[in-house]
This record gives sequence, structure tokens and C-alpha cells, in this order.
Amino acid sequence: MPQRPPARIGQPLAEVDTPALLLDLDAFERNLRRLPSSLPPGAISLRPHAKSHKCPEIARRQLAIGAVGICCQKVSEAEAMIEGGIHDVLISNEIVGATKLARLAALGKKARVAVCVDDAANVDQLEAAAAVARVTLGVLVEINVGSDRCGVAPGEPAVALAKHVAACPHLRFCGLQAYHGPAQHLRPVAERHAAARRAAESARRTKALLEAGGLPCPTVTGGGTGTYACDTAAGIHTELQPGSYLFMDADYARNEWPAGAPRFEQSLFVWSTLMSRPAPDWGAVDAGLKAIATDSGLPLVPDHPGVEFSRAADEHGVLRFHDPACVLAVGDKLRLVPGHCDPTVNLHEWFVGIRRDRVEAVWPITARGAFF
Ligand SMILES: *Cc1c(COP(=O)(O)O)cnc(C)c1O
Repeated sequence: MPQRPPARIGQPLAEVDTPALLLDLDAFERNLRRLPSSLPPGAISLRPHAKSHKCPEIARRQLAIGAVGICCQKVSEAEAMIEGGIHDVLISNEIVGATKLARLAALGKKARVAVCVDDAANVDQLEAAAAVARVTLGVLVEINVGSDRCGVAPGEPAVALAKHVAACPHLRFCGLQAYHGPAQHLRPVAERHAAARRAAESARRTKALLEAGGLPCPTVTGGGTGTYACDTAAGIHTELQPGSYLFMDADYARNEWPAGAPRFEQSLFVWSTLMSRPAPDWGAVDAGLKAIATDSGLPLVPDHPGVEFSRAADEHGVLRFHDPACVLAVGDKLRLVPGHCDPTVNLHEWFVGIRRDRVEAVWPITARGAFF
């Protein structure tokens, strides 16, 4: 249940209280359009990942400019998205346990829903849940193309599981998920492209085996912000799942990008207040671990050169002032660039959309939270 909005439409940014999650709407809208407009027309579909924004207002904007649906990572996210009016959801993840599977099957009555699998017993439980709910669910076999997270081995093990799915009356085998998470953040372009090419080859070989066995494989889904262009070029994916491109973060900014490739802009910031400056060379803002994620590195301070975010505590961010002449004083507000966008969004209840230093939108992040 979202709390009271942290800002009013029309309010000057300077008056927005902290910590707050700011969205620079001009940069956000450019990112929103830049990715689909960089794809060769008709070659591939876009199914953006909603785990980045967890916000149906944003999902609707992605669909309005051509996305075929969205991805979610959890049943709870899919519930919030379908509640928010989204009608085509792929859970790009494995869903385990009778309670979650019953919730997933119930969603099949309200929207077009698909899910990934990598285990035959899980497929049987999914079939049972779908039968009880009297729905047909789409199913993709996830293959491990290098993430070493979930997924069956490409080739024969994937074909065996796909046959198992195809034999279930309430499941519809749709194809493969081939997503390489760690490859998104490999810094050198050549390394990132090589990992994406290897992933694409695993998917190509598995799809060929499926088809040779008489099992059509209409969908191959995968790809994130770091690899989507090379996934498209490899020509085996039918759908892309990027999420972070809308917001970007300090970690993605450390990736090398090929010359001429579309560049996404930082649109997401945490708004904070300098709450203490006991010495010229250090101080603290009111945004710590509970306002900004630090798993992929500490936040950056983009508007004040010489100011470094050096340490995060629960509710404090410790700043180092390398230039003691920096005039920031207690009560001043400053923007922070998160190290990792998705878990930062998950800490907040609302996006505060800013244009020309005024609040233009407040959007609830209805899919946030730890609940799976
Ligand atoms: C996180 C994730 C994505 C999106 O990746 P970004 O780097 O945020 O673009 C796509 N697919 C899956 C399965 C994911 O887990």
C-alpha cells in the first residue's frame, strides 16, 4: 500500500523533501524512445523488463510505443502490473511452490501469461496449478547460456524438458529464454559481444535440435541493456528484455559502448539533503542504504565535482569534500546517481517526475517490495 506521495504536481524541485526518487522526465523520455528506434524495423520485438521500474505507469508508456508486452521477475510484480492494466506478461524466471503457482495460474484468467522453467517436477506442478485454474499458460525453457543462475544446459537437456512441457495439456511450449546476466556488465565491448555471441550460438543449436525433433520454437527471448544490440545482430532472438536503459546507473556508465551505438542518459537520481558538515572535508546526507542501493558500487555526486560519496550507513551517506572550498552547507539538497538502478527503485514508493525543476508527475511503484 503506497504511502502518501512525497511531492505535489507543480512543486519546485527545491521544495521536494528528501530522500526522494527523482526521474528526469526529458532524459527518461529520450531513453524510452531511443532503444526501440535503434532496432531494425520488424526484425525483433521488444518486451522490456519491468523489474527495473516496477511501475505500471511506465510499462504503459513502453507498450504505447510498440513493446509487445513486459517481463516480470516475480508473481507479485506480475500481479501489480496486471492490476495496473498490462495484458501480456512473461515471468522471465522460475516460479516454485504451490502457493505461488496457484497465484500465477490465477493471473492466466486476466492476462496473457508465460513463465520460464528449468525443472521437470516444477513443470508438473505448474501443469497441476493451470489445470485447477482452467487456464493455459505459456512456457519457455530457460537455458543456461553463461549466467550460471537458473536454466537447464542447452542442447539435449533443454529438448527433453521442452518435450515434457509440450506433453502437458494446460501448458503451451513457446520457446527458449537465453539471457546472459553477467555479460551485460562486461566492460570491454569485445568481451561483451563475444559472450553474447556464445549465448546466441547455444540458443541457435538448441532451437535447431527442437525443430529437428518436431517441436516448433517460435520465441527466443533474452538480452539486456548491455547486449541487446549484439543479440539483435546475432539474429536468433525474437524478443529483447532490456530494463535499465530507461534509467541507467553508475555501474552501467562504467561499460564501454561502441562508437555510434545509442547512448542512454542518466535519468534516475536520489534527492538528498546535506544534514551535517562537521568539518570542511566531510559531511553526511540523509540517503544511506535504505534510500540507495550500493551492491554495484557507491553513488556518484554528479553536480558537485570534488565531492565523493564515501560510505553508506542505514540512513546516512558520508561525503568527502576533496575541495574544502565547496560551498555546500547543512540544508542544501543534492542529487545522487545510484550505483544500481533496479534495487534502488525497489526501496522507494514513488517516482517524482521532474521537468524544468518542477514536479510534473508522481507515479506509484506498485510492484516494489521483497514479496516473491
Ligand atoms: C534483469 C534482467 C533483464 C534486464 O537487464 P538490464 O540489464 O536491466 O537491461 C532482462 N532479462 C532478465 C531475465 C533479467 O533478469
